[in-house]
Amino acid sequence: MDSWNYEVFWKEMLNQIKNTVSKEEFSMWFNNISYCSSEENTIILSVPSNFFMDQIKQRYLPLIKETIGELSGNKINISFTVVKKDIKDENHKQNGSSVEDIKKHSDLREDYSFENFVIGENNSFAANAALAISNNPGKSYNPFLIYGGVGLGKTHLLQAIGHAVHDNYAGKKKIVFVTAESFTNEFVASIQKNKPHSFKNKYRSLDLLLIDDIHFFQNKEGLQEELFHTFNALYGAKKQMAFTCDRPVSELKNITERMKSRFEMGLNVELLVPAFETRLAILKNKVESLNKIKSLNLSISDDILELIAQNITSNVRDMESALTKLVAYAELVNQKITKEIAQKQLIDIFTTTKQSNISVDIIQKKVAEYFNLSHVDLRGRKRTKAIAFPRHIAMYIARELTEYSTTEIGSDFGGRDHTTVMHAIQKIEGSLKSDPTMEATINSIIRTVKEYSSK
Ligand code: ADP
Ligand code: MG
Repeated sequence: MDSWNYEVFWKEMLNQIKNTVSKEEFSMWFNNISYCSSEENTIILSVPSNFFMDQIKQRYLPLIKETIGELSGNKINISFTVVKKDIKDENHKQNGSSVEDIKKHSDLREDYSFENFVIGENNSFAANAALAISNNPGKSYNPFLIYGGVGLGKTHLLQAIGHAVHDNYAGKKKIVFVTAESFTNEFVASIQKNKPHSFKNKYRSLDLLLIDDIHFFQNKEGLQEELFHTFNALYGAKKQMAFTCDRPVSELKNITERMKSRFEMGLNVELLVPAFETRLAILKNKVESLNKIKSLNLSISDDILELIAQNITSNVRDMESALTKLVAYAELVNQKITKEIAQKQLIDIFTTTKQSNISVDIIQKKVAEYFNLSHVDLRGRKRTKAIAFPRHIAMYIARELTEYSTTEIGSDFGGRDHTTVMHAIQKIEGSLKSDPTMEATINSIIRTVKEYSSK
């Protein structure tokens, strides 16, 4: 037999898988795979991007193979081909432009794409939601908001959505990526030039609006008013919006309630600090893309990458600067980098980022010591005043010194929720204003925590 056709198995497999994965998973992943063709013992599937393919391989390949194996009674291989999404937009077909000749979008950094984004346990929810949005902008999760500490990939992911929508729709979608700061400046300039309409026309007619760092809108009333109307116009027209913020929306100050509730309407996802394995994977990925961009052939040994991943724990950007510094050094002296050289070159970066080793646990211990309490009581549920006050201080310090969200901090204090933590922080902020000794107390505890953590 020479004409192989396994399509029936593929279709039947989809029917079966539908019952084993959730509806969202099915529509996010399986609806975006198409059967392409068959060869002997191989089914060829088409997928919309390399990133998508990697995800499918990681998550579902064993399940797909097993199910098809059972159905066909044969061992059948699966291979993939990447075919950029067919544009439903009829206009585009008339223009006949092909995916290859789309120019990159000028607001976006070329390397901030899904292809260059490493998925780990800290960001997989956010990345998968971002991907789903890129495949179907405006259809679900509107608006999408990513929040988290500095250097964790918020901007990268936001721009990746921009790239993917731009590519998926062959450059036909009107996309703007702005920082909240440039958005503000542009708005102010439009008023000064007496051209508020040009601003409104631009932003209210977009298909995709990406605004980075919306915490910048705090305390800016006029701006929030304008954004509110932009938001409503786009939302009403089912146009996708995505934002980033350095904290959960509930913790923003001086943002109107109506604006907050709009930010919170769609899907809000937190980016967490990556674990060691993910940090290492990100570094390997960066070495590769540095080589590509600079047409170099650098190899940096695993033990050096591990050294970086071990010493810089809370911020991808700092890891990246460490790597860039090493690469620059290697180019300059034209010499292979040893672990000793790396250690020596990076000592400054390692010591300034050291405080990221601070854990909630250490803070609790140091606060307990200071107030002569037991660690167990401090993190426990007892509510006597003698314990509650130091506990509030510990929560406050945890928020000051770590990148943990109030939700995570709460869970380290006997599973309290984030509102309790926020409340504690507000109380301490209040006492800092009214009680002059408070600051000295807190600073002294902070010093002992830092000393302990830098050992
Ligand atoms: P944020 O906006 O959260 O401060 P960025 O998006 O600017 O952080 O990320 C900081 C740097 O770290 C960027 O160069 C980005 O490419 C890189 N980065 C962060 N997370 C990842 C990841 N998961 N995979 C690859 N690079 C990452
Ligand atoms: Mg950013």
